[in-house]
Amino acid sequence: MIRIARIEALRRYLDEHRRAGGSVGLVPTMGAFHAGHRSLMRIARERSNLVVVSLFVNPLQFGPAEDLASYPRDPDGDAMIAEAEGVDALFAPDPEEMYPRPMLTTVTVAGLGQGLCEAVRPGHFAGVATVVTKLFAIVGPCRAFFGGKDAQQLAVVRRLASDLDLPVEVVSCPTVRHSDGLAMSSRNAYLGPAERQAATALFRGLESAVSSARAGERNPVRLREQTVGALADQPLVTPEYVQVLRAEDLSAFAPGEALDGEVLVAIAARVGPARLIDNLTLRFEGRSVHADLGVREEEVTCSAR
Ligand code: AMP
Repeated sequence: MIRIARIEALRRYLDEHRRAGGSVGLVPTMGAFHAGHRSLMRIARERSNLVVVSLFVNPLQFGPAEDLASYPRDPDGDAMIAEAEGVDALFAPDPEEMYPRPMLTTVTVAGLGQGLCEAVRPGHFAGVATVVTKLFAIVGPCRAFFGGKDAQQLAVVRRLASDLDLPVEVVSCPTVRHSDGLAMSSRNAYLGPAERQAATALFRGLESAVSSARAGERNPVRLREQTVGALADQPLVTPEYVQVLRAEDLSAFAPGEALDGEVLVAIAARVGPARLIDNLTLRFEGRSVHADLGVREEEVTCSAR
C-alpha cells in the first residue's frame, strides 16, 4: 500500500491506473478505523481493481463547539488496518493541502441537508458535501462506498453526485454493529463503561420499531412514539431526535398517511460526552415488513478474511 499526501500525486497515480483499464473504488473516511470502516474497504476491494481510502478529518464539517481537536486520530494504526484489508493507496492530505485558501465555494444540498442532524449541527452537511465533492473531483471516475449508518450523509452525497453529474457511483454499505447491537463509531471511544452499556438503548429503540412494524403498526406517529418509549428507561441517554421519514428523500409523512415503501427510522442521542446516531430501514410491501438493521462485527470478520 502506498501513502499519498498530495492531490497531484494521487491524480497521477489513479489516471495511470485508469489508462491501463482498471476501475477505482474510493472509501472516504475520517480515520480511527473500526470494523465499519473495514467492511467498506472489503466491499470496495471486492468491487474495484484499485482501492483508495481517504483519511481526512475535515474541519469544514465541525461546528466551533464540536470535537475537531479531540477527534480520535491514529494514522499509523489506520495505515496498518488499511494495508491488512488490501487497500492500494491511503490518501491522507493535510488540511493545508485540501484547503490552501479559505473556501469561497461550498456545496449545499437544499432540503436533504436540513432537519435531522443539521438542526443540531448547522453547516455540518455543507462541510460534508463540500469535502466529498472535492474528493470526487480529485479521484475522478470511481465507485464510492459509504456506510448506511450515516443515512443523511448518504442521501446528501447521492444527490450531489447526481445533481452535478459527477462520474461517481455511490454505493451504500450495511451498518456494522458490536455484538450487543451498538453501531460501530469512532466516537464510541468517548464512552465510559456505564455509558457504553447505556448506549445500546439506541439499538433497542430501533428493534422496538421493527417489532411494532411487524405487529402491524402503520402509523408513523405511533411508530415513532414506540421507538422513543424504548429509549426512555435509560437516564444516561438523552435523545436528540427520533424521526420516521421516507428513506428516499427524507421527507415526512403527511398527517394521517400510512407507512409505505422504504422508511427510515433515525435516532440521535447524547450519551455522556458522545453524540451518537443510528438508524434502520423498513421496507413495507403489502402486509410484510423487511427490516435492515445492518450486520454484526463477527459477520464482517468471518466473511472476507
Ligand atoms: P467516518 O470516518 O466516521 O467519517 O466514516 C467513514 C465512512 O464509514 C462513512 O461512509 C460512514 O458512514 C462509514 N461508517 C461509519 N461507521 C460505520 C458503521 N458502523 N458501519 C458501516 N459504515 C460505517
